[in-house]
Amino acid sequence: MTTTTADRLVDYDEVLTRYEPVIGLETHVELGTASKMFCGCSTTFGAEPNTQTCPTCLGLPGSLPTANAAAIESTIRIGLALGCRIATWARFSRKNYFYPDIPKGFQTTQYDEPLCTAGHLDVEVDGETYRVEIERVHLVEDTGKNLHVGGSTGRIHGADHSLIDYNRAGIPLVEIVTRPIPGAAALAPEVAKAYVTELREILVTLGVSEVRMEQGNLRCDVNTSLAPIGSLEWGTRTETKNVNSLRSVERAVRFEMRRQAALLDEGQRILQETRHFHEDTGTTSPGRSKEEATDYRYFPEPDLVPVAPDEEWVASLLAALPELPAARRTRLSDEWGISPTEMAWLVNAGAVELVSETVAAGASPADARKWWLGDLARRANDTGTELAGLAVTPAQVAELIGLISAGTINDQLARQALDGVLAGEGDPAAVVETRGLAVMGESDELVSAVDAAIEGNPDVADKVRGGKVQAIGALVGAVMKTTRGKADAATVKRMLEERLVS
Ligand SMILES: [Zn+2]
Repeated sequence: MTTTTADRLVDYDEVLTRYEPVIGLETHVELGTASKMFCGCSTTFGAEPNTQTCPTCLGLPGSLPTANAAAIESTIRIGLALGCRIATWARFSRKNYFYPDIPKGFQTTQYDEPLCTAGHLDVEVDGETYRVEIERVHLVEDTGKNLHVGGSTGRIHGADHSLIDYNRAGIPLVEIVTRPIPGAAALAPEVAKAYVTELREILVTLGVSEVRMEQGNLRCDVNTSLAPIGSLEWGTRTETKNVNSLRSVERAVRFEMRRQAALLDEGQRILQETRHFHEDTGTTSPGRSKEEATDYRYFPEPDLVPVAPDEEWVASLLAALPELPAARRTRLSDEWGISPTEMAWLVNAGAVELVSETVAAGASPADARKWWLGDLARRANDTGTELAGLAVTPAQVAELIGLISAGTINDQLARQALDGVLAGEGDPAAVVETRGLAVMGESDELVSAVDAAIEGNPDVADKVRGGKVQAIGALVGAVMKTTRGKADAATVKRMLEERLVS
């Protein structure tokens, strides 16, 4: 039995003393094709409900589907990027079930003859590489979208009535299904997250989808099971549906491990069921008990010809694949002269692209990393945003670094210039100009500040004259203070030495 409220949970570390987790992920990606899978309707997001429909995607009698060639090409490219075998002959099936968001009464999907099989994706967590085996990559059409009105939860339970938007019905959806992933133990939640993160990077690189998780372009079903350590059999899995952020993927696995361990400790059985994930609490609750494939009465779709990708065409798609993220990271590590661990920091900080663009805009790799992982990471952290969400572009960071290299500003002034850029005052050079941040040259102003420091601190000046050269720091500090940090410390030190040390 499962309970709907206040599930008992076992401490995470304790779960691992008794149980071995096995995870699995089904990722659904809405392709960015201009038209739907089996008709010419537009796929533009956010249109008025039911304005992007036609007899085919509404399943009206007599309408006939035609497969979208661009969607098939995108699916094959995804399969190739994941090292899959590409079928020479694949077919669509009808998955029969009645639900209001499926106007045809069946979903057209690839079932026993998918386009891509037997691939893999390597992900790295804590310096360890985990190979995630990909079972299949196949095409399916998306369903419409139900909107349940009047209830407090947005779910059908308790709602007054429901509205259905068929704009999404028939949008091509690629499902990427992993084989079960054992052996990750305590890192299972992180491996799940790392897998989806890496997959998302690949999809972005391929340009096949917008992969905006918040718009539902990328949704994950997260399977989790536990087995007693040493057991030869895997446990019964639950499937947490439609998890739509990278962080939630990790949280969903963690929660299910803790919940299932409590049930198993009590000698209860885990129900094979789908579960909902709740973003606000980080918990899951039961959905429906999972149907078996036989319940859907699959049969080959009679209205569509089989897909038979030509081998030469597939070879040309493989040859034309862009550089994939893992290869790119290796190349950039070499170019930037950094270790895999340092690259992992950049990946975790979401800074690879930003550093790369900053370097492309003229900064040295070392300076670009220093600013993105240092000052900018701190500011992002303070404001609770992602690095990429900061109101500063890589080109502006490169400009800032250029101003430092040229001696126009120092690091401290650069931070003030950055304040101005983030406040929307313009590019770094303009901020330096309007805020008057440029380092002071050996001007009259600086000369009098140096003289004033010596006059104002006669004891210190005497010490320096008497040979205690390290005492000069206090005088440098005094000059920096009167010039509000705009003087160059090395210049000030040299000027003081000229006056005090002969
Ligand atoms: Zn249509």
